[in-house]
Amino acid sequence: MRLQTDVLIIGSGAAGMYAALEAARHGARVMLVDRSLIGRGGATVMAQMTVAVALGEEQPDHWEHHLADTLTAGRELCDSALSQLLCEEAPACIREMDAWGVGWARKNGHISQVQAPGHDRPRCVYVDFVNTGPAVSKTLRARLQRTAEVQRTGDLLVTELALCDGACVGAYAVHTATGESIPIAAKTTIIATGGLTRIYARNSASINMGGDGYALALRAGAELIDMEFVQFFPIGHLAPRLVGMDPIMWDPFRYKLGGRLLNAEMREFLQEDGRYVAARDHATYAILKEVAEGRGSPHGGAWLSFRIAASANCARHSAR
Ligand SMILES: Cc1cc2nc3c(=O)[nH]c(=O)nc-3n(C[C@H](O)[C@H](O)[C@H](O)COP(=O)(O)OP(=O)(O)OC[C@H]3O[C@@H](n4cnc5c(N)ncnc54)[C@H](O)[C@@H]3O)c2cc1C
Repeated sequence: MRLQTDVLIIGSGAAGMYAALEAARHGARVMLVDRSLIGRGGATVMAQMTVAVALGEEQPDHWEHHLADTLTAGRELCDSALSQLLCEEAPACIREMDAWGVGWARKNGHISQVQAPGHDRPRCVYVDFVNTGPAVSKTLRARLQRTAEVQRTGDLLVTELALCDGACVGAYAVHTATGESIPIAAKTTIIATGGLTRIYARNSASINMGGDGYALALRAGAELIDMEFVQFFPIGHLAPRLVGMDPIMWDPFRYKLGGRLLNAEMREFLQEDGRYVAARDHATYAILKEVAEGRGSPHGGAWLSFRIAASANCARHSAR
């Protein structure tokens, strides 16, 4: 079998599905392929919490404030042009998703926005009952079903980009159910294969997040940039593991449940006064510092305590 299209999109998370809709909107024939099921394979469908966007529904806001917070949180290391694109275009995208029926949580008739670490005001929208990612994914899948120009094919694992005189002219894929090799010719190829956290020993990624897109691009001669920007939940794992609860994002939950991070001396080392204020990298560095200075828990992390502060006894679980 040999396939042909105007635009080939590899990966059908939010990025790939939205790119497919946008390309179709501009009159292109699109082929959206995924190594898993369409819209169900990667991080998008797993995201539970919130999306930062300067809507100004809760308090006056502007994308420039969002950009300033983003650059500060990134220690000025982020690509400022890409950061601006994200912050500036986000409000229109989020409102578009609202019109498509994603169901952003509302309060008194307006979209509800909550504050998260790193932001100077309530800026984060969400779909209730930790349903943000699944709702975004479902909405985009439903749009795609009504978009005839987009052909969707799951179980296609792209293994190599096809090159001609140094230009990308499509890709080679393997049909995972039959092992059949399938070349796909395309005028334009978009890589939307998501992140690479699966390559770390302990992670909160799906099996499809092994960084395939990075490898495809690198082998095709592209330069990879900003490889140090890998995001982790500071408290993603418990030791010993708890069936059904590992990995899980304990960071927001620990505030709701009153959890505190303690070092080996049973001392709280991240002073947050019970508020959800420490950005993820700050919390991660704080844990690492305690471990590096010999004050870690026996499992190489910190203690996560749910005891009342005064007693300061540790819980039986340590976080890392
Ligand atoms: C547990 C978890 C919770 C999160 N919570 C939040 C949150 O609350 N708020 C927030 O803003 N962000 C959150 N994120 C991050 C957010 O989900 C991601 O940044 C975003 O979904 C990435 O979208 P994507 O389309 O780029 O990639 P993905 O959604 O990962 O999609 C990539 C797709 O590419 C496919 N693929 C990979 N390799 C190949 C290949 N070789 N051939 C074909 N297909 C391939 C995969 O199967 C997958 O379907 C969370 C992430 C995780 C893992």
